[in-house]
Amino acid sequence: MAIATVNPATGETLKSFGAMGPEEVERRLATAGAAFADYRTTGFDERTRLVLRAADLLDGDRDEIARTMTLEMGKPIAAARAEAAKCAKAMRWYAGHAEALLADEEPAQDDVHDSGAERCRVHYRPLGVILAVMPWNFPLWQVVRFAAPALMAGNVGLLKHASNVPQTALYLEDLFRRAGFPDGCFQTLLIGSDGVEKVLRDRRVAAATLTGSEPAGRSVAAICGDEIKKTVLELGGSDPYLVLPSADVERAARTAVTARVQNNGQSCIAAKRFIVHTDVYDAFAEHFTAGMRELKVGDPLLEDTNVGPLASKQGRTDLEELVDDAVRKGATALCGGSRPEGSERGWFYLPTVLAGITQDMRIHQEETFGPVATLYRVRDLDEAVSVANDSPFGLSSNVWTRDDGEVERCVRDLQAGGVFFNGMTASHPAFPFGGIKRSGYGRELSGHGIREFCNVTTVWHA
Ligand code: NAP
Repeated sequence: MAIATVNPATGETLKSFGAMGPEEVERRLATAGAAFADYRTTGFDERTRLVLRAADLLDGDRDEIARTMTLEMGKPIAAARAEAAKCAKAMRWYAGHAEALLADEEPAQDDVHDSGAERCRVHYRPLGVILAVMPWNFPLWQVVRFAAPALMAGNVGLLKHASNVPQTALYLEDLFRRAGFPDGCFQTLLIGSDGVEKVLRDRRVAAATLTGSEPAGRSVAAICGDEIKKTVLELGGSDPYLVLPSADVERAARTAVTARVQNNGQSCIAAKRFIVHTDVYDAFAEHFTAGMRELKVGDPLLEDTNVGPLASKQGRTDLEELVDDAVRKGATALCGGSRPEGSERGWFYLPTVLAGITQDMRIHQEETFGPVATLYRVRDLDEAVSVANDSPFGLSSNVWTRDDGEVERCVRDLQAGGVFFNGMTASHPAFPFGGIKRSGYGRELSGHGIREFCNVTTVWHA
């Protein structure tokens, strides 16, 4: 895949970059290794100062970097600005909490004495150079949610970003440099996915985190398995959205529209499968379809656009194939199901609701990365949970109910890394984020995220 900015709203190539050659990659690996040797010994005060400075700079750059993101991957401009603001917030959160999250832990005195020790503590030390392989869909956020905790923990970062967001990737390196981080603490590698293995196998790289598709995750995890290096994988999702009879159906339908089409439908935690109790199915389907039909599809640089283009031509083709397969096998498009009329340029697709989904359809098992929702009618909670869990993915889940018993049952039985009631899934720096099954393993954000790339060290004194 060429490393280039191609505007998804027009198909026009705006800027191309050559991949870094082996000497440049080697130079950057050496710089990262050398940077870690010093940076690991810095104190929290120093790291806090640097991360807060990066947050302030990012706030100042918000409009400019938002425009870059929109031009590179097509998200509506207002959402791009919100993404930049969220990144600054996450930086400040980690700057404010890292020291406490990584404070030494004292095991219970009884256990300490039982071990024959006089004193014992658990200490969190940084691990080293971490390679982050990142996707284009939240090109700033995915990186910052890795970088802020990694840098606060004393690690250093190497970023291999998606090939279609090179300007955002270079911006991030520049941001941390301007913030005052020592040379090599955060660098971008402009390389294709075929250059990742060599970096992963390099002895100076301690671990890797990947956010992206299943094939990419499998490859990175296999190589790191071979090298015995730690990985965190944040992969795809096909989150269920259950609507049960006690729900506020109109509100559930309104939120469902946002939950499905956020980021032009290209979010791992977007609700994708809408599983609705038969008692409220017709009302939900009517409100939801009306909401999806009303969305304004168009130029993502315009403030009032709700849904921009898909990020790539291939992404739209993949989505069209899933919809066509479902319709051929009997699904009905309640709205959408095609490109907008007259959209010769750009990779647009209409917000779509498909009803009558059956298990033989590809869309039942695969992730729809675009503004396409599938609707399921179920007779009771048992069937709702069973349909929700009938997926290879397990990222997050959403449930609309006012019934305490149903809440308890869903928390117990839904196979996912999150259960969000009467709202939509969203990430927050304070809450762990990640999935199970083919959505990956490990957690980002919160204390769980910052400790993923730490050497948890037992310090024992007789
Ligand atoms: P992708 O094709 O897997 O790309 C993600 C990153 O992996 C890019 O930097 C890509 O580089 C690289 N890559 C691709 N194949 C690779 C390989 N064999 N070895 C090493 N690196 C490789 O995914 P995408 O299409 O950009 O992103 C969409 C996917 O990401 C969706 O499935 C979505 O659900 C998932 N996602 C998950 C989360 C989460 O937190 N769970 C968040 C966002 C997105 P190139 O661009 O150079 O190919």
